Amino acid sequence: MSEPIAERIRAVEAATADWWAHLVATYPGLQRAPVPAVAWLRRGATAGRADFQRWLVAFNRPMLERDDGYRIILPETVVHELAHLAAFRLHGSRGHDAAWRGVMARMGITPQRTHDLDVTGLPGVQRRWRYRCACGEAQLTTTRHNRIQRGTQAYRCTRCGERLVRVAEDGSG
Ligand SMILES: [Zn+2]
Ligand SMILES: [Zn+2]
Repeated sequence: MSEPIAERIRAVEAATADWWAHLVATYPGLQRAPVPAVAWLRRGATAGRADFQRWLVAFNRPMLERDDGYRIILPETVVHELAHLAAFRLHGSRGHDAAWRGVMARMGITPQRTHDLDVTGLPGVQRRWRYRCACGEAQLTTTRHNRIQRGTQAYRCTRCGERLVRVAEDGSG
């Protein structure tokens, strides 16, 4: 890890305040809204969340500890969640609608609904096992993986009809 976690937390908190100031300067309609608070999610695959009621943005703490996760949270997820609050305040928006996409575009960030980070191993995220068939790769849950390994069930691809075969993982079992 390149910097201690406390430093990353401070960086995210500072970026939240900075990006919010940028939003307020861009949209005068936000001037009377308080600066959103920052909270931390302890588990799950979600990079961040916006809470309209409590007026806060929450970010995935275990993801922040990973270098690749940190690079996604700052600035992409920070702006993504703040844009939800801004679009809600300005237009009553609650999703990834035109109002939210418009705010993202004004901030110069490509509007994406989800991140494409590999979330394997994060707390609260079920492990996925890689299998393949003639038409490509599939990610199976541990339950299905165990059934295949015990031989109690064979899984065939619903598209090509071929048996799913385990893909060897690099390094880990
Ligand atoms: Zn979102
Ligand atoms: Zn197939």
